[in-house]
Amino acid sequence: MKAKNRLSQRRFLALFLALLLFGLLPLLNCARQREVLRVPELAKLPAEQKVDRLLRQMTLEEKVALLGGTGFTTTPIPRLGIPPMKMCDGPLGSRMKVSPTGQVQHGGLATNFSAPIAMAATWDDSLIRVVGRAIGTEARAKKFDVILAPCINIARVPVGGRTFEGFGEDPFLVSRMTVAYVRGVQHSGVLATTKHYVANNQEQWRTLASSNVSERALREIYFPAFKAAVQEANTRAIMAAYNKINGLYACANRYLLTDVLKKEWGFSGIVMSDWGAVHSTVPSANAGTDLEMPRARYFNEKLVKAVKEKKVSEATIDDKVRRILRVMNEAGLLGARPKSYPSAVDTVSHDSLALHVAEEGIVLLKNDGHLLPLHPDSLRTLAVIGPNAKQAIISAGGSGYLDSYKKVSPLEGIRRRVGNKIHVSYALGARLRTGALPRIPSKFLTPPGQKPGQHGLLGEYFTNPNLEGKPAFTRIDSTVYFFWNRKSPAPGIPATNFSARWTGFYTPPKTGTFRIGVNSDDGFRFYLNGKLFLEDWRVRGQKLVAKNIHFTKGQKIAIRLEYFQRRGQSVTQLGISTLPSGKLLQDAVALARKSDVAVIFAGLNRRLEGEGHDRSTLNLPPEQEELIQAVSKANPKTVVVLNNGTPITMAHWINAVPAILDAWYTGQETGTALARILFGDVTPSGKLPLTFPKSWEQTPVASTYPGTKDSVDYKEGIYVGYRYYDNKHLDPLFPFGYGLSYTSFEYSNLHIAPETVGRNGVFSVNLSVKNTGSRAGDEIVELYVHENNPKLDRPPKELKAFKRVHLQPGQSKQVTFELNARNLAYFDPHVKSWVVQPDRYTILVGKSSRDIQVQGDVLVK
Ligand code: BGC
Repeated sequence: MKAKNRLSQRRFLALFLALLLFGLLPLLNCARQREVLRVPELAKLPAEQKVDRLLRQMTLEEKVALLGGTGFTTTPIPRLGIPPMKMCDGPLGSRMKVSPTGQVQHGGLATNFSAPIAMAATWDDSLIRVVGRAIGTEARAKKFDVILAPCINIARVPVGGRTFEGFGEDPFLVSRMTVAYVRGVQHSGVLATTKHYVANNQEQWRTLASSNVSERALREIYFPAFKAAVQEANTRAIMAAYNKINGLYACANRYLLTDVLKKEWGFSGIVMSDWGAVHSTVPSANAGTDLEMPRARYFNEKLVKAVKEKKVSEATIDDKVRRILRVMNEAGLLGARPKSYPSAVDTVSHDSLALHVAEEGIVLLKNDGHLLPLHPDSLRTLAVIGPNAKQAIISAGGSGYLDSYKKVSPLEGIRRRVGNKIHVSYALGARLRTGALPRIPSKFLTPPGQKPGQHGLLGEYFTNPNLEGKPAFTRIDSTVYFFWNRKSPAPGIPATNFSARWTGFYTPPKTGTFRIGVNSDDGFRFYLNGKLFLEDWRVRGQKLVAKNIHFTKGQKIAIRLEYFQRRGQSVTQLGISTLPSGKLLQDAVALARKSDVAVIFAGLNRRLEGEGHDRSTLNLPPEQEELIQAVSKANPKTVVVLNNGTPITMAHWINAVPAILDAWYTGQETGTALARILFGDVTPSGKLPLTFPKSWEQTPVASTYPGTKDSVDYKEGIYVGYRYYDNKHLDPLFPFGYGLSYTSFEYSNLHIAPETVGRNGVFSVNLSVKNTGSRAGDEIVELYVHENNPKLDRPPKELKAFKRVHLQPGQSKQVTFELNARNLAYFDPHVKSWVVQPDRYTILVGKSSRDIQVQGDVLVK
């Protein structure tokens, strides 16, 4: 009996132990997992202690996992309760969405507040701060923690594809806009990513070439806005650029990331790579890149190995992890409870904010004979013409493209504004050109030695990119209109690094002017009757190159197209169209002729301008130039309104047109804003954040752009934008800071006090500005500085302050600027520091960089 009892006691004990082992332990383990972050004590710890505790619990593998993204999020560590941090592209608004299962996806909607180039044209940093906050609020409501904006690269290259995403050419203006935008976004609780650090100023070769820039130009032109983002606005992330800088990829550039950004400027946030911009493990990790996006191609087991082999220290890894955790904590992701996001935003108030920005950013470039504003009472008929009239062109293309909840086209805005008072008619006039011209129908093509009934061109394909040797494959292609999408174009031909030639004849179906062109990625050469007609033989993104030509019906024309593929996409599309000289143009001209006034909405769109490619010309597409010429001839009261993020040259048509408005990409309310400006409800007040040259040849980069795939030399040094035109005494088409108004302003009584200061001294500049016209309006007062006897070459003037003032008719206001002598410094590369030279400085205050109204001197001792 006793033995039986003992047995059951033992059984009981065994059962108890088993329960403990298999039942309780997992529970305990689970409790330990939840302890992290869910335990109020840890969640409540001061930030750095919380980060330290978490870090101590992480294995090396977990730490490294946190340093590589998973698409648009950071990698979660479920064991420790570390959630993913979700990121959304900007900068016009939050352009992505989060799916119900938490995946970040493309294709979201948001308020489109204007492209940053238009924001900069407002010169209204307090407004841009409010916009930043609204963008952040929408991003939060869409469940994002980080926005990948602002983009603050300097507009160095006038054809730069991403110029619309930035704030223009001047480091001071860009800095003020950057600080405002970042502060606004971060005020909403979303973190800003200031990008792309640094000297990322063109799309051509953007992932290959080295921007070779002097230290002085970096310090004076390309760094200031990044420094301001760090030191004044506390940006929580910086995105390192695609390009190399002085020979080293941005993500592997220790001087830029560690010496300058982290040590000198004291940046405590995350350095994340641009998408795919990391090209190495050890150099990038040691240089200061913290987070590889969008995926860990180098910051993965290769990095774990590098740490084990002591090529990267664990302290370096810890510093990166600490930065990421710190920022996640600030984003509210390491709290006691899962982060909650607001469920809705007030889009109605955001609509009116978007309208306000649009109205302030539109620039009046020309207004001969006061054609504008239009007076509804004295107009009976209005012709609204052009490819950008019926649709709202709200953004250029690429990762910055933002589709909005609503869009008001110019035609709609005008119709709503005038109601039944004016008869508004519309004509397209010219098509908005997209990537390619329509394909040439096969029936008009014949191969050499045509067999009866055979149509198309002889295609010869080569296994090298130079058309060398014998073709490896030949066939008759019915037409040349290929998008191979990185796949092999023909049997035996590789998917990349190949070339092809097509020969045969084209027989035009009618007599007239044709537009013929090749849309390709990469380069091509196109011959007509043995003569080179079009050429762009270089590695590049997809682009259409086209020209007009007159053909006679039935004339047989020999054609030859040569193409090569080296990198990226594989596309070649030979297309043709008849010019609008046909019906489209005639209808527009007829409408203009019988209307009191014609307004042409012309310009670019997301296909003609955007990320991944620079513009091929500063001119408008030829169809549009032709339209403007013909319409303005038919009706001298013609207004041109432009959509663009980069300057447009106007040599072929400016003299024929009395009034021009630059509407940039002014977002979803563009049509309402334009109608209000055209009819004088609002007085235009925007000013140019970049110079409009007369021609490409006049620009600072005419001889250096695009460089080669290895290097782009910034030979103009500190002479970027207006600094260059001033220095060379060149008259641009429209200078930096330029913009007209419907009213007039008078500047007077400039007073500087004190007139002599020490090198750290402070002085104020006072002047009075009066509205001498008959309408209320805003004036942007611009202050530039000129050093009289500089030791090193200095630009003739540099923007140092500006203010937007609202004035009623007849009203005067005192405008005061407080300046510190330190702001007058230049960077001396010999002593590697900023120097304020004792000297006489002239303070120039005016309406634009070329319209100085009042000036005075200050002596720095
Ligand atoms: C762009 C970045 C953008 C990222 C994610 C990159 O190609 O350069 O500005 O944030 O893609 O879309």
